Amino acid sequence: MERITVRTSKRLEMIDITEQVGQALARLGIERGGCVVYVPHTTAGVTVNEGADPDVCRDILEHLSRLVPNKGDYHHGEGNSDSHILTSLVGSSQFLLVEGGRIALGTWQRVFLCEFDGPRIRNVWVQSLAG
Ligand code: ZN
Repeated sequence: MERITVRTSKRLEMIDITEQVGQALARLGIERGGCVVYVPHTTAGVTVNEGADPDVCRDILEHLSRLVPNKGDYHHGEGNSDSHILTSLVGSSQFLLVEGGRIALGTWQRVFLCEFDGPRIRNVWVQSLAG
């Protein structure tokens, strides 16, 4: 398994980690098959979406924060229930296809770490499921 470290700078943020995941694949020596990208945190997740227009990530974060506001009728005493809920909505892992040693993504797709309680230093794990 390969590990990636990502430093986030905002409370809510989507950071393009496609290059780092690609470098992790190279270190793992995966030529084809698949890999899992896993975020071992309860207030950050991972998704695949458009990386060409930054307004897409902006819209996603703005709408998610309206869907699950920071302040609300929550029970969890830490004050970050929204972060936990958003993490469960987005998910903690992504399965990616690998072909020719590269992540097989659509033209506009990128892999994003989703920070929901930053700024923090986050870990991302990449494991081969080589076929
Ligand atoms: Zn919490």
